[in-house]
Amino acid sequence: MKARIGLEIHVQLTQAGTKLFCGCDSEYRKYPPNTNVCPVCLGLPGALPVPSRSAVVLALAAAMLLNCRIPKAIVFTRKHYFYPDLPKNYQITQYERAGGAPVCMGGVFEYLDPDSWVWRSVRIRRLNLEEDPGRSIYPEGSILSSPIVLVDYNRSGVPLLEIVTEPDLGSPREARALVEYLLLSLEYIGAVNPRLEGAFRVDANISLESGERVEVKNIGSTIEVERALAYEYRRQKLILEHGGKVERETRHWDAARRVTKPLRHKEEEEEYLYMPNPDLPPVLTRPLLDEARARIKEQPRRVFEWITGRGVSREAAWSITQVLPAARVFMKAVEMGGDPRLLARIIGVDYKGVLKEIDKDVYDPKNWPSPQVFARLSQLVERGEYPLEALTGIVLPRLARDPKSSLQEILPERASGVRELVRSVIAENEKAVKDYFSGREKALDYLVGQVIRRVGKRAVDPRLVRKLIKEELENKRR
Ligand code: ADP
Ligand code: MG
Ligand code: ZN
Repeated sequence: MKARIGLEIHVQLTQAGTKLFCGCDSEYRKYPPNTNVCPVCLGLPGALPVPSRSAVVLALAAAMLLNCRIPKAIVFTRKHYFYPDLPKNYQITQYERAGGAPVCMGGVFEYLDPDSWVWRSVRIRRLNLEEDPGRSIYPEGSILSSPIVLVDYNRSGVPLLEIVTEPDLGSPREARALVEYLLLSLEYIGAVNPRLEGAFRVDANISLESGERVEVKNIGSTIEVERALAYEYRRQKLILEHGGKVERETRHWDAARRVTKPLRHKEEEEEYLYMPNPDLPPVLTRPLLDEARARIKEQPRRVFEWITGRGVSREAAWSITQVLPAARVFMKAVEMGGDPRLLARIIGVDYKGVLKEIDKDVYDPKNWPSPQVFARLSQLVERGEYPLEALTGIVLPRLARDPKSSLQEILPERASGVRELVRSVIAENEKAVKDYFSGREKALDYLVGQVIRRVGKRAVDPRLVRKLIKEELENKRR
């Protein structure tokens, strides 16, 4: 059965620096409850909002990414509802009616479907900038049963983008691919770190065979976008196959049980009493637009195509593109003369793997050595001065532990130097050699140990030593 899927995606501007209308920190997670607050984001009487320049610039940059028409002015609207997590009793948002205007409306966004390597497109209905509310905590039981509610306003006022698509997505996997690509694009422009807990939430709408749509709320990760929609697809399909009718409703995604459940009634549009915010004049100036334009220079699609254009496989290129510091280091190292395919292996597979192994964050630029280091490693391997395994086995783990260490100090003994050592060790250990020829494999371990001892402080890959000794001994046998 044919599905139509449209998404409402909320993304926090975690990298904006401040909240949307005050100077409190946009990265609220590190504070004890109710300490990242001020009169503005607590909604105290007399407090006045001042729009954050960086949030407005990031929202405009996002609008440009989505190829939206940008209006002449950005107008903020009050949306009223009454809930403990909203201290002013209204949220400052943007709305296309009641005299307001969203950051933009009517865009088209292209995203990569990594299942088929096809670029798909989805129409964007609108993008708006709004405040995140505070966080309600139900310490005993659930929202329905807890006798007390705790509220933490650290999040109150954090800038949030709401991006609404048209129902152009054809499957749960496409929906997931779109969200992943969108988040990556927003990470590239410096808007969000999507790996922070709660950095984005998705409401997903799905209908089958032109039937009624169901909205699934509370989806907090990209894999759950796919899971929740796949569940809802099966649920609706079963109803239709049994001759039933799908009701238009809002459901809740229960991530633990992996099911969607009916949700309480929500306010209707009229009940929000939308009105233009009288405390905030319309904003939009040339310099803001210029700043936004400068932000969108670096985009995942350009990076991906730059890498594949240099003979790297799509899989490897995509794996590098998804980790921004890796992509930056890769491109610079190639420009410095490194071999693209070799670097794709060293950066995208081996170094990334080593970082993961020792539990270091691959997304943190501080964990990446300079491009010069990678360009040099690539040259050493290309010239045959070192086998790739010697570098991945010894140099990369050391770099991962200390990305600033100098290559001179951590390079192992060269293969040619090691071969000479191997020859002299063989010449000086006739007994071990005889033992080896009479079938005692242990003698080989002894010889490997002797070579490694002579190499001294500068490490050498034992696998390389073993290989060289075997080669030399087999030559001798003949
Ligand atoms: P609301 O006013 O309830 O927010 P909208 O018309 O703004 O509803 O649409 C909200 C979301 O629902 C959008 O992402 C849109 O793409 C999606 N949507 C609209 N119609 C359908 C449909 N028939 N099937 C699936 N999704 C739909
Ligand atoms: Mg809506
Ligand atoms: Zn504040």
